[in-house]
Amino acid sequence: MRGDPMISRDLLDILICPACGEGAAVHPDESDQTLVCSRCGRRYPVREGIPVMLVDEAAPPTAEAPLRQP
Ligand SMILES: [Zn+2]
Repeated sequence: MRGDPMISRDLLDILICPACGEGAAVHPDESDQTLVCSRCGRRYPVREGIPVMLVDEAAPPTAEAPLRQP
C-alpha cells in the first residue's frame, strides 16, 4: 500500500503535457518521482514536489511508457 502521492490530485488535474498540449494528461509513475504523459510517454521530473513541465527537461518515452497513438 502506497502513501499519499507526492503530487496532489488537484494539481494533476490541471497539468498538461506541453508537447501534446491540452487534453493530454500526465500521471505519476511508480515512484512518484516523475510524471508520465499518457499520450506521448514523455517523463517530466518532479523537483521538491514541483512538476517541471518543460519539454526540454522531459525524458523521452521509455520501454515502460512506450509511445502510444491516440
Ligand atoms: Zn505528451
